This record gives sequence, C-alpha cells and structure tokens, in this order.
Amino acid sequence: MANDLRFQVVGEAFKKKPLDVKAPSERPSEYFGKHVFNREKMYKYLPKDVYDKMVDVIENGSRLDRKVADAVAAGMMQWAKENGVTHYTHWFQPLTEGTAEKHDSFIEHDGKGGMIEEFSGKLLVQQEPDASSFPSGGIRSTFEARGYSAWDPTSPVFIIDDTLIIPTVFISYSGESLDYKAPLLRALKAVNVAATEVCHYFDPAVKKVTSNLGWEQEYFLVDEGLYAARPDLLLTGRTLMGHDSAKNQQMDDHYFGSIPERVAAFMRDLEIQALMLGIPCKTRHNEVAPNQFEVAPIFEDTNLAVDHNMLLMSLMKRVARKHGFRALLHEKPFAGINGSGKHNNWSLSTDTGVLLHAPGKTAEQNLRFATFIVETLMGVYKHNGLLKASIMSATNAHRLGANEAPPAIISSFLGKQLTELLDHIEKADKTDIFAMNGKQGMKMDIPEIPELLIDNTDRNRTSPFAFTGNRFEFRAVGSEANCASAMITLNSAVAEALASFKQRVDAKISEYSKKSEYSEGSGHSSKYHAIIDILREDIKACKPIRFDGNGYSDEWKAEAAKRGLDTETSCPVIFERYLDKESIQMFESLGVMTKKELEARNEVKWETYTKKIQIEARVLGDLSMNHIIPVATSYQSQLLRNVERMSAIFPKEKADKLNARNMKLIEEIAERTATIETLVEELVEARKVANKISDEHQKAIAYHDTIAPMFDKIRYQIDKLELIVDDSLWPLPKYRELLFIR
Ligand code: ADP
Ligand code: MG
Repeated sequence: MANDLRFQVVGEAFKKKPLDVKAPSERPSEYFGKHVFNREKMYKYLPKDVYDKMVDVIENGSRLDRKVADAVAAGMMQWAKENGVTHYTHWFQPLTEGTAEKHDSFIEHDGKGGMIEEFSGKLLVQQEPDASSFPSGGIRSTFEARGYSAWDPTSPVFIIDDTLIIPTVFISYSGESLDYKAPLLRALKAVNVAATEVCHYFDPAVKKVTSNLGWEQEYFLVDEGLYAARPDLLLTGRTLMGHDSAKNQQMDDHYFGSIPERVAAFMRDLEIQALMLGIPCKTRHNEVAPNQFEVAPIFEDTNLAVDHNMLLMSLMKRVARKHGFRALLHEKPFAGINGSGKHNNWSLSTDTGVLLHAPGKTAEQNLRFATFIVETLMGVYKHNGLLKASIMSATNAHRLGANEAPPAIISSFLGKQLTELLDHIEKADKTDIFAMNGKQGMKMDIPEIPELLIDNTDRNRTSPFAFTGNRFEFRAVGSEANCASAMITLNSAVAEALASFKQRVDAKISEYSKKSEYSEGSGHSSKYHAIIDILREDIKACKPIRFDGNGYSDEWKAEAAKRGLDTETSCPVIFERYLDKESIQMFESLGVMTKKELEARNEVKWETYTKKIQIEARVLGDLSMNHIIPVATSYQSQLLRNVERMSAIFPKEKADKLNARNMKLIEEIAERTATIETLVEELVEARKVANKISDEHQKAIAYHDTIAPMFDKIRYQIDKLELIVDDSLWPLPKYRELLFIR
C-alpha cells in the first residue's frame, strides 16, 4: 500500500530538464523597456507640446488637464495597437497582497452597427472598478461601494501579453485611500518638501529631493509537482509540518554556489522579461537556504521601484510555472532554515547626487551629510515601533524575533567611521569646530570631520536598519510584502524629522543673528552654528536607536527595553502603533493619511491577520485528521499484524523479546495520534471562542495568543511520526525532496 502520489511527483521532478531560453537577438541595453511607454516612446508617439507637458507632470508633479490626457491616450493607443494590444486595465495595489486588475477591451460601438477601437483620456485617467469586495476597513460600506482608480502618470504604463497596464491609485468615493500607492505618493511628496528646504541651508539651487529604493527580493523555488502534493504550501504558502532534512543549510554550500541549471534557465527568462518591462535587474544569486535565491535590480525612484517590485513578484510566479517551478514568496516557507526577506535599500538624492553619500570634499558637504544621517536616525528613533508595525504581518512574524535576521527591535548600525563622526560633532566644543578666517568671515573648518570614505564592508548582519556606505538598508521588510508600507512610514518619519530640524534651526538662526559673537563676516556663521547646535541636540536625543552589537542576543533585548525601544513581538499588538498619538499626528500633519484612514487600515490588518491564522488552523486540522493520522494508523496496523504473527510462531518469551521494538512503535504511534487528535479538537474549540469576538482587534489578539501557539505543538507530534512511519507510506513530499530537487 505504498503512497503512489509522492513517489510519482518526486520521479517526475527528477526527470525535468531546463528549458531552452532563447535570448533576444538585441543586447539587453537595446531591449530594456521595450514593453514600456517610457520617455522615448512618449517622444515618438506624442505631439511635442504634449510630451513637454508630460515631462513637467512627471518631474514637477504639475497638473494634467483633460485635453492633454486625451492626447496621451491617443498616443498610447497607437503604440499599444502596433504591439498587438487589444485590452487595457487599471492596475492598483489594494490592501490585500499583490495587485489587482480588471481588463476591458478597446472595443466600442461605432453607432452604425459596427465596432471601433477607442481609448480616451477619460478612460486613461479614471475608472470605477466594481471593487466592493476589496478590503476597506469599513470606509466603503457596501451600499456605497464605489471606489475609483486614478492614473499615476509618474509610473509609466506597460504591456503584458495583449493588455496595456496602467498604474493607478485606488481611492474611495469620498477620497480616502484604499491602497498603498496613494499614501506612498503623499509621503514621497512630504519628504521632498522637507528635505529640499533643509538642502537650501547648504545649496540654494536644489530644486527637488527624490527618495530612492533598491530592493533585494529573496524567494524559494519548489518543483511544481511536489508543491501540488503539499496542500499546506498550496493553501497557506508555507509548510505547516515537515521534519528537518538530515542535510539542510549546515554546509553553507548553497550560498553563492553555482546556480542549478533549471533554476538558471528560469532566472534568465525572468530577467529578460523584467528588462523588457523596464525593471533594471542586475543581480541574481543563490541564497543561504537550499533552493533559496535572490534577484535585485538597480535602485530607482521609490514609487517606480515599488511598482516594479509588485510587477516582478507577479512575473516571477508566471515565469516559474513555465519552468515547472512554483515561486514561494512567503517569509518562512520552511521551518529550521532561513526565511526570505526583502532588504529595502533607501536613500535620498537631489538633482546633484545622493544625500547620504559622504562626499568628503568640503566640510559643508560633510555637514549636510551628517544632517541627513542624524535626522534619518531621529525619525527612525521616534517612530521605531511604528516602523516595526509597517513591516509586520502574520507571515513576516515568523522571521522577526525568531533568532533570524532581523530581531523584532528596530535599531540602527552606523559602523565605526560614522559613529566617530557623530561622536565628534557631539563632543567637540565650538572652537574645535570653527576657526576664524580673516576676510571671508567665519569660514567653517571642521578639522575632525575627516575625508570620509565610509567603508561599505563594515557590516553588521543582525541590524534591521544599517548604514551601508551611501544608503540605509531596512532589512526587516518581508519577502511577500508591498515595500510601499515600509516606505510610507520611513519617508514620513524622515520628513517629519527634517521639518522639525528646519524649524528649530531657523529659530536658532534668528536668535544667534542678534548676538554679536556670530555676526561677523558673511553671515554664514550664525547658520552653521545653529545647524551644529541642533545636530548636537539630536545626536544626543536619538542615541538609543544606535546599536552596533549582536541584535540576536538576549542582552540586547533587555538593553533595548531599558532604552525605551519597542520590544513588542505580538503582531496584532504591534499594529496598534499606527493609532498612537504621535503616529496620527505625523501622518496627518504631513497629509499622508488621516486618522480615519489609519483606523480603517488597521481594521484590514487585523482582519487579514485573523484570516491567515484561521486558514492555517483549518489546513493543519484537515491534514492531521485525513493525511497524517490515517497513514500512521495504517502503519501501526502493519506492525500489529507483524506482532500477532510473530507471537503465533514463537514461544511467548521469545516472541515478546522480538516484538519489543514494534510494540514500542505501536505505543508511540497510539500516543502521538491521540495527542494530535486532542490538540486538533482544542484548536477547533479555541477557534469557536475567538470567532465569537466581534471586535477585529481583539479577535486578532485571540488568534495570536490562543490559536497560533498550538500549531507548533501539533507539528511537533506530526514531525516525530514522519520519522518513524514507513517512508513509502508517507503522503507528503518531505523537506529533503522539496529543498533539494531542482
Ligand atoms: P548587497 O547588500 O547584497 O551587497 P547590492 O550591493 O547588490 O546588495 O545592492 C543592493 C541594492 O542597493 C541594489 O538594488 C542597489 O541598486 C541598491 N543601492 C545602491 N546604492 C543605493 C542608494 N544610494 N540608494 C538606494 N539604493 C541603493
Ligand atoms: Mg543588501
């Protein structure tokens, strides 16, 4: 009575050969962006004045009127038709995971009984998808189910198959955002405004500050047949059971090892398609865990980078299927080996260069560098709990705080040189920092701010927010997450800190300008004195966020609590940070989100959390009862028959001795299956209790506190059974198969 399905899928998986991926005849630089209505295409397909207007809209956020939209739509339509496109869709990022789209064809009645193909500015700019089933946290009650999608002209439209895809924001009838993109655009605007003003202290010519994001997407690949034979992977995205493979990542032989052929073919295919969609993929490699990989593009403006990440995640799933794989984006598909994250490399830049890069030429530039570093730290410090909330989810909770990068406490690693720089600014007295210089007035001379060559290799892998040379790397983001969530909070926090910095510096400048000691010379003096004094204040204030040690240690948890950092680990409780007074105040004052929106979003977060745990509980219960217990019992019956027959042919004393091992197994199986059954019953009962709670917040907490902890207990028993039950009976593909067949 062998289990045919498992052996069949394993056998099939072994036989699969890499697909032959034909590279396009052009060079990547030539086919890059081929499927995107980018500047080059706009220039070709739009009248000159319309093109100029679009560039102004994209670069300066100016308003776009309907006439221009009509002209843009006509150009897009022409380009799309030349590429065999028949449909278009408004593409948006609802509060669930992933993206949503509804396709319409260009076909319209021509009024003479025939059909024409049409696409107007009106259709480009705004749509009203029947989207009443997208989560809105109650903002759109069902009788007012209207939600609008509105074109985001700053992210170019693109083609997939026969469809023109238009990036949009998704908002309710009354204007509240129901997606990730709308608040992201507002946060990016806020940081642009605040950072540009601060830049003017150093360079009045700066027009605009851009927030940049370079993400590194980790993922697992699993053979499609094996995946299909694992109902837990299929339904929850992770394995709810499975004993460790005897070999997993101990040898570190997968990391940066040579890429398996079938995977390499997948990666090549993915990269070609991504490049054609304008995603500048640059890096690909194996990751730490077996069958774990990473893809990373070159960084881009944050809004575009977020769209590109969403697009790449869906592209990845499609391309994987073509190659007989499933791409797993879940943060923790397998217990006992590394999970997947998505480092968010973040920086700010002006038209003239990256702001977090120490240029090391003039003291002025170094002071500007220090300002942006310190105010970033101020934002991260003040909102460390909220930043954690922004990356928290039912799935990412398996990674955070689970002794794996990174810990569930937000702190920042700066490295030796930067630490020394901040220490210097904090401690040096005025005469150290300034030196008089005759006619030019007070020239700033900061002897101890050295030629900065911040060392990129000075790394701390356990830090959730590490400075790495010219950027901060926010490492706590989950592999499955929409980066927008983290980017909304981070950019808002930095915008708020910069605005507060500016306010305090301005106040100090007017105070100092009245004092004679600062008033000689060009007048720069009071400004730089003011900046340095406020920086000093802030360096001291945000010190608790700086931590260069081992983020995994228990000492750090205790130390972080002492420093007042947020050390909460319960996902539904962490979400409460969105409704803290300081958070609401920040989001509202910057115009990013209102209290009402924040409350509605939290409802969605809690509900989503509950649903995820609920589904996992159901799947675990089902698999326990109809996969595991029957198979274990069947093996137990085999053993019992064997014992009976042995007893029939051997004298009792000898039979007892010979049967000893099997008797032990029979007993163990009986005990473990009985325990599983009891736990599954308790799980069902606990769910019944939790389901009666009507408040989403409290329900999520109940699911976290009473239901989720039971999973490991049940799993423990199942994994022990996996070790003793005859391998040929075991129904589910094992870890060694899922992780090593490729
Ligand atoms: P790793 O951290 O693994 O060494 P890489 O050096 O490949 O990663 O870079 C990771 C990501 O960081 C890439 O997307 C890269 O473009 C991005 N990156 C580099 N510089 C910046 C910057 N100044 N701002 C934002 N992202 C950046
Ligand atoms: Mg990195």
